[in-house]
Amino acid sequence: MIPHEYIEELTRRTDIVELVGSYVQLKRKGRLYGGLCPFHSEKTPSFYVYPDTQSFYCFGCQAAGDAISFVKKINNISSGEAIKMLASRAGMPEPQEDDKTGRLRSRVLSMNKEAARFFHACLNSTVEEARQARAYWRRRGLDDKTIVRFGLGYAPNDGQALYQYLRDKGYNQQELDASGLFKRSPSGRIYCLFWKRVMTPIFDLRGNIIAFGGRVMDDSKPKYVNSPETLVYHKSETVFAMQIAKRSASRRFVLCEGYMDVISMQQAGIDTAVCACGTALTPGQVRIISEYADEVILSYDSDEAGQKATLRSLELFRNSPVKVGVLQIPGAKDPDEYIKKYGPERFQALLDGVGNALDFRLKRLRDQYDLSQDAQRLQYVKEAVEMLAERSNPTEQEVYAGRLAEETNISKTAILAQLGTAVKRAGGKYRREKNRELLRSGEMNQ
Ligand SMILES: [Zn+2]
Repeated sequence: MIPHEYIEELTRRTDIVELVGSYVQLKRKGRLYGGLCPFHSEKTPSFYVYPDTQSFYCFGCQAAGDAISFVKKINNISSGEAIKMLASRAGMPEPQEDDKTGRLRSRVLSMNKEAARFFHACLNSTVEEARQARAYWRRRGLDDKTIVRFGLGYAPNDGQALYQYLRDKGYNQQELDASGLFKRSPSGRIYCLFWKRVMTPIFDLRGNIIAFGGRVMDDSKPKYVNSPETLVYHKSETVFAMQIAKRSASRRFVLCEGYMDVISMQQAGIDTAVCACGTALTPGQVRIISEYADEVILSYDSDEAGQKATLRSLELFRNSPVKVGVLQIPGAKDPDEYIKKYGPERFQALLDGVGNALDFRLKRLRDQYDLSQDAQRLQYVKEAVEMLAERSNPTEQEVYAGRLAEETNISKTAILAQLGTAVKRAGGKYRREKNRELLRSGEMNQ
């Protein structure tokens, strides 16, 4: 149980307006702040933050609460996790982070390092299963240097081997339990969560190993197993390969779908490739990326799931000052495959010529219509115009109106007229975007 005084102190040190403002674009309205609700989809703001009571309320979906419940809800984490997050934000020691917890934390970190060494040694052993694992990484196009750099490994078929290894190194049962590396069978037998899988360690920003991702080498299920949340691993706050990307000279990040894409891109020399950890992108991860990047290129798979994830991520980045582009990969299902087929240079060229978010949205929209049908063509223009009115500036509107005219054989003048009306209608919203833009350029000039 976390002491009452601790929560009070945490609440005192947290400003809910500032907190919510790092996720949602807020605008002052008298004594309140309003914005688009992050918990339901809406076009006009019905989400309010009340500084006086340090609370929030949404008139659209009735989401309500204080700073702790906001963090909990938006990151989909437990109250305990939310309190820890807020504590680190407020510069407070973790709740009940007495010597005992601190010691356990550092023991778990050192155990993870040992486990990574173990998995790596297993990969390099002479037994047949290790040979298969090495062949797997090889098939994925990874060279020895990359395997060492990322500390890749192999979890052997023997689910008890790691347990024995760590016990021999002197880790006690409480520590082993806290690591998240082991499970207990109904009969009480302890075995490793990962067996017969190729292993990827996950690092925090300081370079500690905090978790693992394990993948099967064939088509068996589940394809991926990842470490659970532990004392040291908070999934929604972790960005894979961020410890490398943050040191890059480039502030242009490439956000990929999975570990394999990241590792393959990094091997190809793109040292700002990162991905969310075993989950859909979270607001917390967007916040971390936005701290280090000026621009983010979304580079997801070209299948329907990947395109949906792209749209979702675009929404999450909407309130971030980061400029977002969307990479479309012609002739390959994902970046990894493209790099293998055409080489790193051509992939880099693809990155350099990346389209913006608006291009991506308009293409998605166009794909829904059959432009040879009059009615559908009109509907497409109508929706495209709405989108442009809401999400673009006058220069972009001029350019895109021209493109729309070419695509649909409707005169540019007619499209611009429609656009004029739509812009007026979306006026309030457009001004907000404009303010946001001003805010952004202000931040960049600092
Ligand atoms: Zn809502």
